[in-house]
Amino acid sequence: MGHSGSGLRKTRELLALCDCNNFFVSCERLFRPDLEGRPVVVLSSNDGIVIARSNEVKALGVKMGEPFFRVRPLLEQHCTAVFSSNFQLYEEVSSRVMAVLGRFTPSMEVYSIDEAFLELPPSGMDDPFCWGAALRGTVLRETGIPLSVGIAPTKTLAKLGAERAKKDRVKEGVRTLLPGENLDDFLSAFPVDDVWGIGRRWGDALKKRGITTVLRLRDAKDDWVEKRMGVRGLRTVWELRGIRCIPIEEAEKPQKSIQSSRTFAVPLREFSPLAEAVTEFALTAGRRLRAQKSRASRLTVHIGTSRFRDPWYGRTAEIPLGMPTESDIRLIRSAVEGLAMIYREGYDYVRGEVTLLELSSAETFQLSLFDPFDDRSTALSRVADRLNREAGRQLLRPALLLGEKEWRPRRDSHSGVRLEDLSNLPVLSS
Ligand SMILES: [Mg+2]
Repeated sequence: MGHSGSGLRKTRELLALCDCNNFFVSCERLFRPDLEGRPVVVLSSNDGIVIARSNEVKALGVKMGEPFFRVRPLLEQHCTAVFSSNFQLYEEVSSRVMAVLGRFTPSMEVYSIDEAFLELPPSGMDDPFCWGAALRGTVLRETGIPLSVGIAPTKTLAKLGAERAKKDRVKEGVRTLLPGENLDDFLSAFPVDDVWGIGRRWGDALKKRGITTVLRLRDAKDDWVEKRMGVRGLRTVWELRGIRCIPIEEAEKPQKSIQSSRTFAVPLREFSPLAEAVTEFALTAGRRLRAQKSRASRLTVHIGTSRFRDPWYGRTAEIPLGMPTESDIRLIRSAVEGLAMIYREGYDYVRGEVTLLELSSAETFQLSLFDPFDDRSTALSRVADRLNREAGRQLLRPALLLGEKEWRPRRDSHSGVRLEDLSNLPVLSS
């Protein structure tokens, strides 16, 4: 047994996982308080798939990722409010939530649009529950978004704590798992595949071997775990025992490639709307590239017709960028150049994609001496990023992309809410 005693090991470190409840739904409800307590779903672009559900919709048995047409009759029967996704709004609300969370800790990792890990500051250690409840109350008051908070010595346990807080719907929305506490009952109530990092991949195999609950996984022998699940699996098991193996990562992990793609709302036949779309993909990818402080050395463009209809046509062009770049102008120019290489007349294109590859760090890279053009256009791209971020929308963009575009996703049920409206938020009482 690699583990003795049922309580968590003594530790002086605690962290909190803060998870926004039904995040996209909560964002839409900010502007529609009348939808509180009513079923709400948010759909993916082109309104195809359910990507967020209110508790009422979860209770109807509607699953995440379900095609909308299949659940539509059921949802209509229950007078469900349906929204097209409005990522601009979600990102803005997310950054407000993260800004409030950041005031509560010197060290935090934004894990996804609606989740963050926070290191507990010394002031929170005396009464972690109270600290968590205050944090949750402040986020609710200042942003209107409800959180579930799990507090524990490790990320893996904090995840389970937040999960429990969400399911139990305790008023404070906080569940602590503290050193010295006996967690046997808590852990035996979770099926093993609820553990962060276990999922479907290992869940079924573990269950077949009798490891059905999280408690059984925690108490499995180290060598047994390592043989079957490797070091990553062993880390997870140790985390369940309260031994921190997965640190808080303050910096976002840079991605190895960056892709921006879309299925068009309507098939595109002509070159110019395709060029517009590809320009937008290059811009989106460029923004992400700079956000993670990288430069790209290679770019690919892909366009394709529907695989379900004849004649089928799909091509990818690859453009070396020469010197690593983060300039929008270079990216757009290369993307359109690539498009021109693969575009053929007479096809109905339904999909396009731009991918940036061979990424390197922008910080260690200095060749500007040899390429003054790139330097200037990089500076311009950075200014655009800042202005757009401060304005909260795409204030600065090529004229080519202004106005309505047929290829942008249909958003029939789009709430139309913009960030400027955040100042008109209805007042919530908690
Ligand atoms: Mg969430």
